[in-house]
Amino acid sequence: MSFYDKAKDKAFATRCIHGGQTHDSATGAVSVPIYANSTYAQSAPGEHQGFVYGRGHNPTRHALERALADLEGGAAGFAFGSGLAAMDAVLDLLPVGTHMVASDDLYGGSYRLFEKVRKGSTGLEVTYVDMSDLDALRAALRPQTRMLWLETPSNPLLKIIDIAACVEMARSRDIITVVDNTFATPWCQQPLSLGADIVVHSLTKYIGGHSDLIGGAAIALNTELADKLKFIQNATGGILGPFDSFLALRGLKTLDVRMERHCRAALRMAEYLAQHPQVEKVYYPGLPNHPGHAIAARQMRGFGGMVTAVLKMDLAATKKMLSACRIFTLAESLGGVESLIEHPAIMTHASIPADQREKIGIADALIRLSVGIEDIDDLIADIDQAIAAAIG
Ligand SMILES: *Cc1c(COP(=O)(O)O)cnc(C)c1O
Repeated sequence: MSFYDKAKDKAFATRCIHGGQTHDSATGAVSVPIYANSTYAQSAPGEHQGFVYGRGHNPTRHALERALADLEGGAAGFAFGSGLAAMDAVLDLLPVGTHMVASDDLYGGSYRLFEKVRKGSTGLEVTYVDMSDLDALRAALRPQTRMLWLETPSNPLLKIIDIAACVEMARSRDIITVVDNTFATPWCQQPLSLGADIVVHSLTKYIGGHSDLIGGAAIALNTELADKLKFIQNATGGILGPFDSFLALRGLKTLDVRMERHCRAALRMAEYLAQHPQVEKVYYPGLPNHPGHAIAARQMRGFGGMVTAVLKMDLAATKKMLSACRIFTLAESLGGVESLIEHPAIMTHASIPADQREKIGIADALIRLSVGIEDIDDLIADIDQAIAAAIG
């Protein structure tokens, strides 16, 4: 058992606080200090304590990376300056001209990275399919397909994809399965335990949890992929700095208590919206009528803190409702302790072309809620008054 494994086989809540972490060996400091240094002294040329230069080695970042690997059940984790930087590093695993299949209801920035950057720079070709339809996925695979890219629950429609079923299809064809686990967090689901090869995160969201940092991570199931990612992280250099690593690690310690509360509050909010006369439709995998409910109940421990709804309103009234919120803040992003609300068509998903948005169902009256950990009755009352204000 290594020095960092004292929480191994312990419960998730314990591992959030102790997983991959230890007291500072130099001073005994209980929380991991911010090591703000670029280089390390050597006693003779080439003789050092395993730390050479800050891009490759930083104790604060390493503590975060070990903690994330522990919680996701991977061989190793790597932290980057943003979620997209982590995802870009994962795409560096692929040779020029690769074909990839991605889920169609994707984070807008991931779509932009694939289509507006990688397509031109490395000839990446992406087919977008509704992966909740396994026949559609099978039909999209080609002999040259080298990667599957999944988001489940998806953004913003909270579609559920059967991770294990996708992995089964990918494994036999030598395809790497990547799961963007930003919405679920390892508290709700651990894709590596279902056979996925790589998990990516925007740490900016639930892992950081306080809307006070931008960061990302990639966690690899096996050492072979981990070694490649480690090389790419150092060679391309998009690392997370020590200050943000410290913040992310501090956020991570309360992931268990936050997620338990987010999930409980989101279910209450979804149930409230579902019975509201001004609400056309609610998307929440925890509702029994959600098409992915059975799979979600099987592969997730909780259904997450995100709720999406379509209002019975036109665009003008929908905008009015969003502006009338008082506790919910109208803002992009998600996963913080504070509740956020937004309009995907105008805000987070504006980079997806209008016809594509329409095709996948991101309507003008569709709103997305990141249910925070304020008092849930206060949150419901806020939505209630905002809807009343919009139709009044
Ligand atoms: C925010 C987000 C990203 C991008 O992460 P950044 O930290 O903003 O670069 C990727 N995927 C999902 C699902 C996200 O919500």
